[in-house]
Amino acid sequence: MTADSGQRTADSKRQFAVGVDFGATRIKMGLVNNRGKVLARKVVPTLKDISPAEFVRTVKNEITELLSDSFKCRDCVGIGIGAPGLVNSQRGMIQYLVNINGWENVSIAQALGRRIHLPVRVDNDANVMTLGELVYGAGRGCKNLVCLTLGTGVGGGIIIGGELYRGATHAAGEIGHVAIEQDGRPCACGGMGCVEAYVGNRRIIALGKGKFSSPKQISDAARRGDRFALSIWEQVGTHLGTALASVVNLLNPEKIVIGGGVANAGGLLLDVVRKTVKERAMEGPAGSVKIVKAQLGDNAGIVGGAVLAFSGQRTAFSKTVR
Ligand SMILES: [Zn+2]
Repeated sequence: MTADSGQRTADSKRQFAVGVDFGATRIKMGLVNNRGKVLARKVVPTLKDISPAEFVRTVKNEITELLSDSFKCRDCVGIGIGAPGLVNSQRGMIQYLVNINGWENVSIAQALGRRIHLPVRVDNDANVMTLGELVYGAGRGCKNLVCLTLGTGVGGGIIIGGELYRGATHAAGEIGHVAIEQDGRPCACGGMGCVEAYVGNRRIIALGKGKFSSPKQISDAARRGDRFALSIWEQVGTHLGTALASVVNLLNPEKIVIGGGVANAGGLLLDVVRKTVKERAMEGPAGSVKIVKAQLGDNAGIVGGAVLAFSGQRTAFSKTVR
């Protein structure tokens, strides 16, 4: 699938979708046109353990405000939500959320759709970010792509043959829980030796031994030539590269797109990842894969949500994305 800037009718020019990035700390919402441009956005804090009813109420109110006179509801193709947990996208159902209690098998697409009278689709947040990067970001033109988001957790999405690969029970793409040590560090998922236990935000800060309180501080120091800070990125990049070498051998992707806050380390991290993948993966797939930084930044969830909404609307989507 690639974005098509070719023929477009006057009607489709006006068309837009709403992307909703449902995070544990913030809910970000935006109107996105069919070229991936964010026309307007809103951000509200997520209440602790927000209930499905509160979520529906909040999102409905904020979207209603976003749909001002200049954005007509009839030009909106629908709403796409990225949620931090296990999502059955076919049924529009959130099976559970990772850091928010009280969400078990919630038919969120139906609940919100009933209140707002627009089609609603929902998927896992990393899958949604992957769709955004595929259609409007660093993955444009790719058919086989792996997308990673690095933060407190490490999420991932897989595109095979231009389609999102969701797996047998909607749980595919959990690259953060690829093990790189047989008896390694305990992981939040209950497993051991998962890459997330080595490259997640908390671990990176712990590696700073009290000298740094954020990955950004480590990057700043590393850019000034601080050897200790450089050694942290060397360690993190080697761990991540080790996991990605397996991903490259397994999936032979054209590109690996790396986003999320930790990816702001840029070359400090990515150069080590590239070197490690070259050393550890098989020559063919290692030689062809491009490892790049994500392009959509803070808007990835909103833009990806809109792609999800467009994909549910056959006419709009076929005009926008092939
Ligand atoms: Zn794990």
